[in-house]
Amino acid sequence: MACGGSSYPSTCSDGSGYAIAKSLGHTIKPPLPVLVPIVLDKEYLKELQGLKLRNIENSVISDGKTLFKEFGEMEFTSFGADGPIILTLSRFIAEEISDKNLILSLNLKPALSKEQLNQRLLRKIDKFGQYHLNIMLKELILVKMIRPFISYCGVNATKKCSQINKIDREKILNGFFDFRFNIIKTKDFKEAIVTRGGVIIDEIKQKTMKSKLVKNLYFAEKL
Ligand SMILES: Cc1cc2nc3c(=O)[nH]c(=O)nc-3n(C[C@H](O)[C@H](O)[C@H](O)COP(=O)(O)OP(=O)(O)OC[C@H]3O[C@@H](n4cnc5c(N)ncnc54)[C@H](O)[C@@H]3O)c2cc1C
Repeated sequence: MACGGSSYPSTCSDGSGYAIAKSLGHTIKPPLPVLVPIVLDKEYLKELQGLKLRNIENSVISDGKTLFKEFGEMEFTSFGADGPIILTLSRFIAEEISDKNLILSLNLKPALSKEQLNQRLLRKIDKFGQYHLNIMLKELILVKMIRPFISYCGVNATKKCSQINKIDREKILNGFFDFRFNIIKTKDFKEAIVTRGGVIIDEIKQKTMKSKLVKNLYFAEKL
C-alpha cells in the first residue's frame, strides 16, 4: 500500500487508503492535518494581515502552561497565521486543540531580558519626550503593528512619551513579551502538507515496512 495520507486531496491521496488498511484489520489513529496554517481570533487581523515577523519566539499556552515554543519567522494572514514556526507548531496544535483552549503568545523581543528592554524603553521615552507613543514605537516595532500593539497593551494612545508612567511601561513590556491571540483551529486537510496519525506503527515491522497482521502486505512511506 502506497496511498499517501489525507492531506492535499487535490493530489489524489485523499485518505481512502486508511479505510483499506482498516478493512484488512489494521488500527487507524485518527488522521490530523499538520504542517498547516492556523486560524486565530479576528481581533487585529485586518490590520496585521500580510505582516511578516522575523526572529520572534512563539509559544502555545494552555491553562497558563507553556506547551510548545518555536523561534523563527511567521506571517499574519487574513484568517490567522502561517510561516515556518506556525507550520511547526501546528503539529502539536492539531493534537491539543480538540480538548484545550490554546493561546498563541508572541515574544517580539526574545533576545532581550525584561530589564534590558525596560532600560531601552526608558531611553526612548526620554528621547521622544514631547512626541506621541506611536512615534517612539517606530524605533521598536514594524509600523503596521503599532496601532494593534498599543490597543493590545491597553495604553492611552494619545499620551505623549513624557506622560508614560511605570504602569504604562509595564503594560508595554508585557505586550512585547506576551502578545496573545486565541487559537481557533488549524486549517483543514486541503491546506495541510502532511498528515499525522494513520496506520499505527506498532502493527508494522519498521525495518521492512511489512504488516505484522496481514501476510504479504507492505506499506510504503516517504521518510
Ligand atoms: C504542498 C506540499 C508541499 C510539500 N513539500 C514537501 C517538501 O518540501 N519536502 C518534503 O519532503 N515533503 C513535502 N511534502 C510532503 C510530500 O509530498 C509527501 O510526504 C509525499 O508525497 C508522500 O509520499 P507517499 O508516496 O506516501 O504518498 P503520495 O505522494 O501522496 O502518493 C500516494 C499515491 O497513491 C494514490 N492513491 C491514493 N489513494 C489510492 C487508492 N485508494 N487507490 C489507488 N491509488 C491511490 C494517489 O493518487 C497518489 O498517487 C509536501 C506536500 C505538499 C502537499
